[in-house]
Amino acid sequence: MLNLTDNFGRSIHDLRISITDRCNYKCVYCRTGTNGAAYAELPFEDYLRMARILVGLGITKIRLTGGEPLLRKGIVDFVRNLANLRTADGSKPEIALTTNGHLLAEIAQPLKDAGLDRVTVSMDAVDPERFARITRVPNGYESVLAGVRASRQARLDPVKINCVLLRGFNEDQIVNFGKFAREERVVVRFIEFMPLEEDRVWTPEIVVTLDEILARMSEYLPLEEIAHERSETARRYRFSDGVGEFGIIAPVSHPFCGHCSRIRITSDGKLRTCLFSVWDHDLHDLMRRGATDEKLAEFIVKVVEKKEERHHIGEPGFVPASRTMVHSGG
Ligand code: SAM
Repeated sequence: MLNLTDNFGRSIHDLRISITDRCNYKCVYCRTGTNGAAYAELPFEDYLRMARILVGLGITKIRLTGGEPLLRKGIVDFVRNLANLRTADGSKPEIALTTNGHLLAEIAQPLKDAGLDRVTVSMDAVDPERFARITRVPNGYESVLAGVRASRQARLDPVKINCVLLRGFNEDQIVNFGKFAREERVVVRFIEFMPLEEDRVWTPEIVVTLDEILARMSEYLPLEEIAHERSETARRYRFSDGVGEFGIIAPVSHPFCGHCSRIRITSDGKLRTCLFSVWDHDLHDLMRRGATDEKLAEFIVKVVEKKEERHHIGEPGFVPASRTMVHSGG
């Protein structure tokens, strides 16, 4: 059986599929607020065929993302079809979703019933007014909170919350998120801001780093570090009284490229081997021109071999990615 390994010996088993680059939020650190979708969307059967071939090559985990994936009608059936795929050892691939949560409340249980295992909801503030300023959409907070609660109800466990902190904008939310994790029984994960935004406003000074988050949170309550898997991107911590967990994903201050296990398919069917790739690999074009599954698998294997060794955030001569986060699939 073919296996996906790159030239640096990393085993690739984690696939992200962006099913649209449209989004109903305009988060200040992600989008300009005026630019809309830039790339096409494919019929679900095309993503499904790609996923089937990739699972045959060793992918064990599939995360649906975007843009905002819940804007796509038919996502429940797509999840059901993904859940029917089988990995080399005969098991169902793990299926996860990253969403802004705005449309989640109604669909959390149907997604669970279709085979979704876990959900990550993005929230960058836990107060409604600040939330609206970040997302540039009025009255979203209550809908997202309902989505988080519906996901817990549907046992899409553990429900994770992604939070990007920007200095001078929402870094005062750290402790509030600690309280939120404890009260709502969700795992909050702070993600360091990366230079992947449409507006190109990133500077190293805006990034609120792992060390700062940890220092602030430990002033609130004593913490204990939780042992984590080598391939896990988040450093994990629990509050010492056993109630509540949070993690920090620190690609800027503590890069983890050496054990990256991910590749991505964009909404228009291009393969990307790194968030910071400066080129795409056109898997969909090959499909459209009638390539067999074997040919597509050979193409994927060759592309993955050349996965970038690491990103170069903050280094002189840094070349921005050819797609920003919303267009590559976060
Ligand atoms: N719309 C969905 C959502 O809101 O989760 C999925 C797509 S969104 C691009 C995926 C994740 O990327 C979100 O958690 C978002 O906060 C994060 N993100 C966007 N731009 C980022 C950046 N420049 N640095 C770090 N994370 C970013």
